[in-house]
Amino acid sequence: MTALMQADKLCLGYNGHPVVRDFDLAVQPGEVVALLGPNGAGKTTTMLGLAGALPALGGELRFADLPTAAPLHRRARAHLSFVTEERSVFMRLSVEDNLRVGRCDKRRALAIFPELEPLLKRPAGLLSGGEQQMLTLARALARRPLVLLADELSLGLGPLVVQRLLRAVRDAADQDGVAAVLVEQHVKQVMRVADICVVMRRGRIVLKGTAAEVGARLTEVEATYLTGDDESFEDRNRGSSSFGRSNRLRYGDAVQVRASNSGDKEA
Ligand code: ATP
Repeated sequence: MTALMQADKLCLGYNGHPVVRDFDLAVQPGEVVALLGPNGAGKTTTMLGLAGALPALGGELRFADLPTAAPLHRRARAHLSFVTEERSVFMRLSVEDNLRVGRCDKRRALAIFPELEPLLKRPAGLLSGGEQQMLTLARALARRPLVLLADELSLGLGPLVVQRLLRAVRDAADQDGVAAVLVEQHVKQVMRVADICVVMRRGRIVLKGTAAEVGARLTEVEATYLTGDDESFEDRNRGSSSFGRSNRLRYGDAVQVRASNSGDKEA
């Protein structure tokens, strides 16, 4: 089977300084990958790279075998939905208008999250955090992406909503063959829906296995790889990079990252 997304020795970073090195991953249709790691391990950097928002410093990223001459990040975006913890709903618009603006199939969005049906006329700003994230995910999945990338989809949400969101991703993988990569703080919950588990530390993959294998050793894996944070990695890089934590960019600034990496003067 051809992987929908394949990273080979991918190297990613900022202003020429590598943060993620030798990242290898192949995601098949219908497969859900949980990407885990402590703070600062490089998960978000990896997601930006996989989304085509951060150009690779080395290695290769292949996105299906699409017959187009467009650059990879444009090809990828046409078939990729990227969801982050920063809810991307238009707060003043109703749920219905959010679905319309998102150019997604409303019927499909409501089939994924019927919970949104009675809320269609309500401004998105008046929804609960969980409902807003359901709307975000409904829009992302109703566009029928080949690949879904979700970075901390459920940050700050309660366990039942987390379960509901993750179940929707699993269903999209099972029913539509969506390939998904999920960064999640709720390790136990994400392991229940994942097929593959990848653990990163200090910018490198330190463990990769089926979710069943890794889940069977979860206590040990958490103690060994997931506790604390990777501050030492940041400290190591502080001397070589002009960016500290306060200067870190968020998703909305991804274009800026691309511009600064490519030496362009303006985003
Ligand atoms: P968290 O769970 O805290 O979000 P993470 O695993 O997602 O962490 P990243 O956000 O990818 O980790 O950060 C990995 C490293 O890259 C950190 O040392 C971080 O300080 C550094 N970094 C992140 N963004 C930038 C940036 N825009 N410029 C320079 N360094 C950055």
